[in-house]
Amino acid sequence: MSNLERDPRETVAGGLATVVAEPTRRVLGPREVPLGGARAMHVRRTLPHRDLPTVGAWCFVDEYGPADVTGSAGMNVPPHPHTGLQTVTWLLDGAVHHQDSLGNEQLVRPGQLSLMTAGHGITHAETSPPDHPPLLRGVQLWVALPDSDRHVAAHFAHHANLPVVSDDGLRATVIIGSVAGERSPAHAYTPLVGADVELGPDASSRLPLDPGFEHAVLALDGDAVVDGAPLPRASLVYLGCGRHDLDLAADGRGGRLLLLGGAPFEEELLMWWNFVGRDHDEIVAFRSEWETSRAGAATRFGTVTGYDGAPLAAPEMPSVRLRPRRHRR
Ligand code: MN
Repeated sequence: MSNLERDPRETVAGGLATVVAEPTRRVLGPREVPLGGARAMHVRRTLPHRDLPTVGAWCFVDEYGPADVTGSAGMNVPPHPHTGLQTVTWLLDGAVHHQDSLGNEQLVRPGQLSLMTAGHGITHAETSPPDHPPLLRGVQLWVALPDSDRHVAAHFAHHANLPVVSDDGLRATVIIGSVAGERSPAHAYTPLVGADVELGPDASSRLPLDPGFEHAVLALDGDAVVDGAPLPRASLVYLGCGRHDLDLAADGRGGRLLLLGGAPFEEELLMWWNFVGRDHDEIVAFRSEWETSRAGAATRFGTVTGYDGAPLAAPEMPSVRLRPRRHRR
């Protein structure tokens, strides 16, 4: 999906300033962000957060729905560009049709990973298919690419069969990376993990973690107890590094969580709108090239054919010029 904020700010992300080297426990609530348009859907954004720009290479976490899209067009995100990141589309309910400027078309369903590597640049559109199910619910995640790979040629992969780890009332689908020795086929450019963890009624389990990673958990559904304390729905708990495992439990209704983690992302990033770059001038150049692309020129972003409508216009750049922080520890 797109960051459809009308007035996005440049956000400094990555770097080690917010990495906690030992286990910690910090609960962050979501921001409600309107996605624009007359029937604006809201998303709940937990990354980037002022106090937590990244978790490993995870740099953007939006959760949306459940939205009743019966009798409406549902999701309709016009063609828009990305650079320097991978998008992870993960649905909990419904279906989304992905189309991109490489000619890929994919119907995304719950339990399947669509992983788009924007790299040097790509354009994509996301819409509900005409005969969509009544409910739409999902998460949209971005993974920052390291400098060594952020200019790779764009590509798209769809993984319909992901490994599942089961233990006493716990069922974890490994979206990316590995959990308890089960590895996702998805390609990541930095050490990373993402898993959808379903907890049955009264489940109590311990999930093994990589102690070299920092981790966070997003509460998707139900009443889950994470690391000994209830995690409010839609909140993200940052857990720091150095954990070998994590206690997860649920009450009689069960619960559902999203586990995110990775090696601390040392490089500093600058994020604005749908671009991840390294400095203000680069973001300005991406924006300018996208506007040229919208006017019909052949650019790095290419063109989505088969979408009925105009591409998204880039917002105005903020007048404040941001630069990545200096490293501090
Ligand atoms: Mn997008």
